[in-house]
Amino acid sequence: MADISDLEEQLALVDSEMGALEIQMQELLERQQVLQEKKRQLKKKMERMSGGDEGDPIASSKVSAEDWNKNDFSWSQKVDDALKSVFKLQTFRSLQLPAINVTMAGKDIFLIMPTGGGKSLCYELPAVCSTGFTLVICPLISLMEDQLMVLEQLGIPSAMLNFNSTKEHIKWVHDEMLNKSSKLKLLYVTPEKIAKSKVFMSRLEKAYHAGCLARIAVDEVHCCSQWGHDFRPDYKSLGILKRQFPNTPLIGLTATATNNVLEDVKKILCVPKCLMFTASFNRPNLFYEIRQKPSSFEACIEDMVRIINGRYKGKSGIIYCLSQKDTEQVTISLQKLGIAAGCYHANMEATAKSKVHKDWTLNKIKVVVATVAFGMGIDKADVRFVLHQTLSKSMENYYQESGRAGRDDLKADCILYYGFMDIFRQSTMVVMENVGQQKLYEMVAYCQDSRRCRRVQIAQYFDEVWDSTKCNKMCDNCNNATSNEKVDVTNYCADLIKILKQAVQLGEKLTPLKLIEAWNGKGPSKLRVASVSPPDLSRKEMEELIVHLLLEQYLKEDFSFTAYATISYLKEAPRANLLNDKKHVISMRIKSRSNKLGSPTEEEAEKVKHPEEKETRSKRKQTSTADKVTPNKKSKVPEDIPVTLD
Ligand code: ADP
Ligand code: MG
Ligand code: ZN
Repeated sequence: MADISDLEEQLALVDSEMGALEIQMQELLERQQVLQEKKRQLKKKMERMSGGDEGDPIASSKVSAEDWNKNDFSWSQKVDDALKSVFKLQTFRSLQLPAINVTMAGKDIFLIMPTGGGKSLCYELPAVCSTGFTLVICPLISLMEDQLMVLEQLGIPSAMLNFNSTKEHIKWVHDEMLNKSSKLKLLYVTPEKIAKSKVFMSRLEKAYHAGCLARIAVDEVHCCSQWGHDFRPDYKSLGILKRQFPNTPLIGLTATATNNVLEDVKKILCVPKCLMFTASFNRPNLFYEIRQKPSSFEACIEDMVRIINGRYKGKSGIIYCLSQKDTEQVTISLQKLGIAAGCYHANMEATAKSKVHKDWTLNKIKVVVATVAFGMGIDKADVRFVLHQTLSKSMENYYQESGRAGRDDLKADCILYYGFMDIFRQSTMVVMENVGQQKLYEMVAYCQDSRRCRRVQIAQYFDEVWDSTKCNKMCDNCNNATSNEKVDVTNYCADLIKILKQAVQLGEKLTPLKLIEAWNGKGPSKLRVASVSPPDLSRKEMEELIVHLLLEQYLKEDFSFTAYATISYLKEAPRANLLNDKKHVISMRIKSRSNKLGSPTEEEAEKVKHPEEKETRSKRKQTSTADKVTPNKKSKVPEDIPVTLD
């Protein structure tokens, strides 16, 4: 027996040492990330200063996009005419003309531009101005259908081939592909067609040799790379296009691709020398704000009404909600308070939807209350506010949805109501998606970060470098001088773990709400723990701490599927061990609190004064940016180095 206890003791020692190692590894990895980011920033700065562009697609695109922004090419007149007479547009948006010129010149190009930026025009217009047809590879049939509808309205002959196509249609398309006097300008296919249909490839080859294949456009080009978030195996076969048809210019388009992904895609598509034009994600006229969501539905409505009737009274806006039911409830509540609001979601009749859209476009109603279904084809320039009644499911979604504000370049507000319970509503909705939860947590991290410039955060998400001074105080975090306070949460963490452990022993599961109740000594008595007393934190702070632990993977969600709903419970994650016996200090967005905890020690206060001084990292459990000491907003720490105060 003595032997066993001896072994157990040794085992515990090893466990604890391994725990410590894991912390150290985590810290080293973070340090590595910080350094890599710093290196990247420094290199970028050096390149900007020396005007060099070697090997850096972003820098090189900036130099060359300007070179291509001209009107004196042989095709320039034709291009300008098509813009006005066929597409009924007045001017090009940023990067459209240079991209069109490059592809008209027969060169390969990747165009990286935020969603809604107007990428389609960059191959549709050249298609209209060229002899032969443009082959467009598009990942989704629904996207093709949308596109074809627009083209049909503009009177541009186009077609698509998919597994639903009839024999007659296929035959007609195949004939047109080889018909030199065909009117067909754009042919949409899925990548499967290229990867799997020999008949189609042989047609394409004939068309190429007959001089009928004008151009190849690959939409959502990031799908080629396994490193991207949307990898599609059939996109990998698209390299065949450039190998078989080397003289046909290729244009690749995407809204989200990091440099790594783009380099990979270049190889896969066999376009090593293609030009890359990257549009900035910055929208200087948008004011980004995250607002603490009021605790009741009514209070939230009242707050929204204040915004709607405030500075932008009588102006147009959009309110995004999570569910169809939410859109209906919000619309009714707004209408009761005298706001001309209309509701929009996927389950409405098509006629009802288009009426709302039209009334809003004509300013008959001021506010559309919608689910994410309200997106495609919205082209209203004077949207003065986009409110999010709940957080979006990803940063991409948020960027797109909020981006519908201020297309006229005049000031507009993007305000998101961030509420604790909404996180879990969203997470049960994205649970089936592949990287759904990861994307949601990135969104949550954005909402939770009350310190860094929103533009810096967005840019970092999209792999762009951004200097917060260029924000011009157009975000809540640059504009407010809320100082964060350091709070020692060691005991709170221990209490939460105790409650969770006990629940496991009892065979009970805890929803986030139940966890907070038990922590507060409320709710079912069996879920409470005698040794846990209610924390000296506001409800908001309690929520903030739980979210922090979730984002840092000390806690995790545990989903349960019933016939009617998916429920999210909270439980300990393996990393929770790391909380044992370690001091855990986080900085919280606290405006004023009489009874604050763990006021800074001298050492900590010193650090606040000299944030650049690195502390002994092992002293303090520290695994995240949120963990780090946060001085007040006026700190001298350069914001453009995104990885905080190291
Ligand atoms: P993306 O593919 O980049 O997401 P789209 O090509 O679908 O964007 O274009 C988004 C919207 O912008 C469309 O409604 C389109 O008509 C509009 N658009 C594109 N270029 C222009 C322009 N130069 N002027 C005005 N509207 C434009
Ligand atoms: Mg597009
Ligand atoms: Zn800012």
